[in-house]
This record gives sequence, structure tokens and C-alpha cells, in this order.
Amino acid sequence: MPFRPTQITGNNAEKTKAHNRRVVLGYLRGRDAGRAEVARATGLSTQTVSNLVAELAREGLVAPQGRRAQARGQPPVVYGFNPTSAAILGFEVRPDALTMVLTDLGGKILTTGHTWLTQTDPAHVLGQMAMLAGQAATLAPRILGAGLVIPGPFGATGLNAASATALPDWVPSEIPALAESALALPVWLDKDATAAALAEGMFGAAKGAQTYAFLYFGAGLGLGIIDQGQPLRGAFGNAGELGHIVSHPNGLPCDCGNNGCLEQYVSRLAVQRHLIARGLLPADGHGTDAVLTALLARDDAALSAWVDTAAEALSRAIGMLENLFDPQYTILGGALPDALLDLLIARLALPPGSVAHQTGRDRPRVLRGTSGRLTAALGAAALVIHHTVTPRIAAYRIE
Ligand SMILES: [Zn+2]
Repeated sequence: MPFRPTQITGNNAEKTKAHNRRVVLGYLRGRDAGRAEVARATGLSTQTVSNLVAELAREGLVAPQGRRAQARGQPPVVYGFNPTSAAILGFEVRPDALTMVLTDLGGKILTTGHTWLTQTDPAHVLGQMAMLAGQAATLAPRILGAGLVIPGPFGATGLNAASATALPDWVPSEIPALAESALALPVWLDKDATAAALAEGMFGAAKGAQTYAFLYFGAGLGLGIIDQGQPLRGAFGNAGELGHIVSHPNGLPCDCGNNGCLEQYVSRLAVQRHLIARGLLPADGHGTDAVLTALLARDDAALSAWVDTAAEALSRAIGMLENLFDPQYTILGGALPDALLDLLIARLALPPGSVAHQTGRDRPRVLRGTSGRLTAALGAAALVIHHTVTPRIAAYRIE
């Protein structure tokens, strides 16, 4: 079933009010302002703005910030966004781990939680989520909602056999309702890469950028595209399965059925397999992060060889992304140590035949994300912020 944006379907009074509320809140999130200024800037009537500001102030989402001096008449009361008035939960479910963040509405992390997963059936994982949420709730009297991110693809597609990096039992049309019941909160579901891209735009390396690409290293390799401030999702929520684009014809077999998929060469699983084959990592991958950090510190030749192969394939993929989507930047982030991502970026040989190859760029074509390991969980929280504050809503729900 296709994903549908909740915002642009229908325009009954309730939806119009919800939209206007986000317009006002979105404006005040950017700057403090009086009601007359908000009305002028948004095109809403002063009465509508007054009603909405009063409602938002009652809920604590905006607060008076004093009066602004002006030439004549009574100085207007200035209102501002109050990021500490409520909290948000963000959950990332990967095939091997569950990560939670609790943030305020400004993205400030209040606490985190983590559990390794040995089974991934939704009932078990939702129980673990409810337990972590219960612990977090003691720190926040008011939680607006929860974002939940999982690896793609969604639904029955030709990629579903790629079970090493996906959660095949997680049916996206069923999960939000199950999660809402388990957590007793509104829940928004999205792909990890898309949500991580939103988080980097809200809090990280892409702050202020409107159009950018984010390559997300989960278990596999995902892609989030933000175009004009909005996530590109495709018809079924599955845009961005970059990991299953063939980069090496007749190359390594992939669980999806293709041979030579990019994520067989560029992913956490790929580097783990490379190190396991050389006896540098136990067969179960235990201790991957510590091993990677130690190998990087001693400039290990085997790891360096993997980086060279990965960087070559990644360079071609990024050149393709640039020509397809014309991003301001491509950002790398997720579940690899920052030092390894930095080395990958340093070894890239980006193709000159790209629309991103321009003189006078203010920043390089490829940047490392700044949200670290929590990027997808923060992205999940960003879904809720996006839904609460952004007028052209980008958090999707399944209808
Ligand atoms: Zn594949």
C-alpha cells in the first residue's frame, strides 16, 4: 500500500487548523515574534494567530518572551518557541540492536538507551521499546510522541530476501498501530536512512541545507534524499535502496538475488566479512567497533585495502547520486567509527563528470555526519519534531 502524506489529503476544518498551528509554531521556532508579525508573515488573520498562540502558550509549546519596544502604542508581547516544554522519543530498530533517544523539542538529548537484539519479531522488540520508554518517561513529564525507524525496504518487494540487513517480519502497515498501543503515544514510522537524513538537516552537518543526500551505514547501506527540505520517499516509501544497486557486474552474490550489489563492498557487513576472512575479527563480528578503532590506529594494511576497494565503488555511486539528485552535499554517517568514515572520504576519487564538480563551492562535495551512532534514533525523534512543527508535513503515516 503506498504511503500517503497526511497533510495534503483533504482540507476539512480540523486539518486546516492543524496545518495553521504548524505554520505558527514553525514561524516561532525560527524567531521570537509578536502576534501581528506572525499574522503578516504567514498570511493568517490576526484573530486566528491570536487563538493559536493562546492555545500553544497554554500547552507550553510557546512562551511569552517580554515586550518589544516600538515607536508608538503599547509594545506587543513577543512569543518564542519553548523547546524544553516537552520531550520526544526516537527508536532505531536494526536486525541486531534497539537504540532509543529521549530529546527535547530542540533535539537536545536527555537520555539514551540501548539493547542488543537476539530476536527481532515485532512483539518482542515492541516490549523492549516499552520498557526503555518507561524508564525514559521518569525524566520527562510530557512526551509528545515517538518516531520509529527501521531498515528498508517496506512491504513485499524484490529486495525482501535481503534479510541480513532488513526486518522481514515488520509489516509497515501494521507496525505504527502496534507501537502506538505498546507505547501509548502517537508513533511515526520511517526508514532509517530517511530519518537520519532529516536529523542531519535539523541538528547536524546539513544544518541549513535544503537539498542533500545522506548515505546511511546501518547493517547495509541506505540513502536518504532531502529535496527542498522534504524527504524523497517514492511511491511505496522505498526510494533510496542504494545498497542494492549493482556496482560490480558478476560480483559477490547478495541476499537480494543480485550479484555485485554496492553494499557487498561498502557497508558495515562488508568490512566485517573482510576482517573475519583475515582472522582479524571473530566470526560472530563481536567487538567490531573496538577492532576497527585499533586497526585504524595502527594503519592496518588489510583494513586499508578494504577502504581502497570501498572508496572506489563509493566514488562512482556518489557521482551517480550527484547527477541524479543535484544535492548541495552528500553526507556519510551511521554505524561506523567516525575515523573510518573520515578515511573513506579521504580516499574517494570523485568523478569529475558530475554536476557537483563546480568551482566556488563553499564546502566539499562529501562531508561526514556529526550525529554519530545516534543519527538514526535522532532521526526518529526528528520525525516527530517535523510533524509537530513543519507546515508541509514530511512525516508519513500509512492509511
Ligand atoms: Zn543486493
